[in-house]
Amino acid sequence: MDYSYSYQTDNPVIVIIWLLVSLGIAVGLGFVGRNIMLKKGRSGGGGFALGFFLGIIGLIICAVMSESPERQMERMRMMQQGFGRPPMPGGAPGYPPQPIPPAYPPAPPVAPQAKTCRSCGAALVPEASFCPNCGTRV
Ligand SMILES: [Zn+2]
Repeated sequence: MDYSYSYQTDNPVIVIIWLLVSLGIAVGLGFVGRNIMLKKGRSGGGGFALGFFLGIIGLIICAVMSESPERQMERMRMMQQGFGRPPMPGGAPGYPPQPIPPAYPPAPPVAPQAKTCRSCGAALVPEASFCPNCGTRV
């Protein structure tokens, strides 16, 4: 029995199909790399070349590559706009302006007995004139 026939790739049709499949995979990887790079605000052509020539390794390089400085600044601006200021009330006509709930509950008022000694930091009663711990006048 001769099995060598099963492994031969001299058939030009098989070689061409194999080349086309390889090319298709390379182009597909190139587009994946291009999308990764575009999301990072970098040139898509570089990502395409990385995916096309280096395959999975190129995609990993695209993934670990840092975002462009422009994109990082844009992201920071969006964060500041999103969280810095609450939206203006009464923007939509026909609806009464809704009160904006505070993001955090109001801080409890500072208890007067929270006074501490400026010298040693010991807790003081409000009416104390001298620190009971170190004797400093308060
Ligand atoms: Zn003290």
